[in-house]
Amino acid sequence: MPEDKVIPLRVAVRARPLIPKEIDEGCQTCITFVPNEPQLVLGRDRAFSYDYVFSMNDAQETVYELSVKPLVKHIFKGYNATVLAYGQTGSGKTFTMGGGYEASIKGYSDEMGVIPRVLHELFQGMAQREEYEFLTKVSYLEIHNEDLNDLLCPPSKREPLTIREDNTGIKIPGQREVVVANYEETLRCLELGSQSRTTGATAMNNTSSRSHAIFTIIIEQKKKNDIDDFCISKFHLVDLAGSERAKRTQAEGERFKEGVNINKGLLSLGNVISALGDETQKRTHIPYRDSKLTRLLQDSLGGNSHTLMIACVSPADSNLEETLNTLRYADRAR
Ligand code: ADP
Ligand code: MG
Repeated sequence: MPEDKVIPLRVAVRARPLIPKEIDEGCQTCITFVPNEPQLVLGRDRAFSYDYVFSMNDAQETVYELSVKPLVKHIFKGYNATVLAYGQTGSGKTFTMGGGYEASIKGYSDEMGVIPRVLHELFQGMAQREEYEFLTKVSYLEIHNEDLNDLLCPPSKREPLTIREDNTGIKIPGQREVVVANYEETLRCLELGSQSRTTGATAMNNTSSRSHAIFTIIIEQKKKNDIDDFCISKFHLVDLAGSERAKRTQAEGERFKEGVNINKGLLSLGNVISALGDETQKRTHIPYRDSKLTRLLQDSLGGNSHTLMIACVSPADSNLEETLNTLRYADRAR
């Protein structure tokens, strides 16, 4: 496969180990892995294959090196990239993305997830390209109930944001884009935004499992002494809302609205992604406009962009049904 070939979409599945709670409850593992193949079997005989399959034995570094690193390389060629973590609450999305607000406190470690690794490699790449000048900015948005919140804005000053579109692309007037000079500064923005998301969550009934968090790094690259050699690329790192079905008993009032809106985002993402994966379908039919999530990511899904979806699953038999839903969603994306 030529290095430069754009593969618009790749799908990875990652199963985490059983967590102590599942072990205490006597859960058994219901997933087996096919050695040396990107394939897994759920229960006795439901086999699925993807571009990558990571088991409970695969470290953060392995996930990054195999599935994410190829996207980082293309950023410097002016392509956009998106990594999405999908799965039910508790399946390992935040662990995998590494958007927990303690990310920068821990420093550079083996436990580090995708986001800090991407940031580290991007800044390393910029430092190595001496013949270029760079301007780097970050933004951090949350979509909850189809409302857009700016996580880099202090909660007291937050105004709901709206999405506009002009001939240069998707715009969000009033959104904060913070200029960052190095890895540490960028991590601090991630930490600040993630902390504000989590704080809001405890006050408001754990909304974090019901909202999408989109951390974006924007890189403007200009060759020194060559005004024509200029490009802007965006790397979106998305921790999606929990994919579990809203339970009938709980799904009333505000919660019901949340469930409906979340499903709207994940549903249209599924439709967009399966349209992208379907080579017979014309690009013009891709239904970006059906949700805030897909509108926001519109210029980074498809076209010359690279997208990786990491579907996270629990191996516990008690989660078999949700795991099956996730595997099917990821399968449709492929
Ligand atoms: P989600 O964001 O999907 O709700 P989390 O990332 O918070 O799920 O993961 C739930 C729990 O499982 C956390 O305690 C997390 O540390 C643990 N966990 C998730 N993935 C892994 C993994 N690959 N290895 C070890 N622990 C994991
Ligand atoms: Mg999470």
